[in-house]
Amino acid sequence: DSKLRRLEYGKPCVALRDAAVGKSSLLVRLTDQRFLANPDPTLGVEFGSKLLTLQGPGPHEGTVVKLQCWDTAGTESFRSITRSYYRGAAGCLLVYDVTSRKSFDNVRMWLADVRAHADAHVSCILVGNKVDLCEGDGAIPRAVPKELAQQFANDEGLLFTEASARSGDGVEDAFMRAAEEIIGKV
Ligand code: GDP
Repeated sequence: DSKLRRLEYGKPCVALRDAAVGKSSLLVRLTDQRFLANPDPTLGVEFGSKLLTLQGPGPHEGTVVKLQCWDTAGTESFRSITRSYYRGAAGCLLVYDVTSRKSFDNVRMWLADVRAHADAHVSCILVGNKVDLCEGDGAIPRAVPKELAQQFANDEGLLFTEASARSGDGVEDAFMRAAEEIIGKV
C-alpha cells in the first residue's frame, strides 16, 4: 500500500509530576487494552509503544505511526532523568484528573517545565483523565469543568481531550490526535 508509510517518532513523553492522575493507566490502556485497578506507583521511566494508523481524510490518511511512550517518574529525585527524557521528545501528554482541581492547577507548572526543557516544536496535548468517575450511578462531582480546560488549552496552544483509562473512552483518540499533530509538522 503506497499510502502506508512507516514513521517512527521517538519519545512522546507522558508528563505530569502529580502522582495518581492516571498516566501509567493511560499508557497501559493504549498499549495493552487493559486497565489495572492497583498499579504499582510510578517508580521510574517506563516504556510502551503502539502502532497507530492515522485516519482520514487528509494528507496523512493511512500513515502508520509508531508511538514510543515514556512515562516519567513522579518524584523529585527523578527530575534529572525527566529532563533528559524531554530531549528529542516529539510530543507530550499533560495529564490531570478531572476530579482533582489541584492536579489541573499543577498542569501550568508542568507546561512551564516542558517549555523550558523540551524542543520548541513539541506537540502537547492536555488530557483530563478519569471522566468515568463523574458518570452514572455514584458519580462524583467534577472539579474541573470541561470548558475551563478547553479555554486553558486554547490560550496555551495545546490540543485538549478528556479520557478514561478505566473505560478506554478517548484514550486512543488522545494519542491519535497527538500523533496527527506531530506528523503534520514533519
Ligand atoms: P500515575 O501515577 O499518574 O501514573 O497514575 P496511575 O496510572 O498509577 O493511576 C493512579 C490511580 O488512579 C490508580 O488507582 C488507577 O487505577 C486509577 N486510575 C487511573 N486512570 C483511571 C481512570 O480513568 N478512571 C478511574 N476511575 N481510575 C483511574
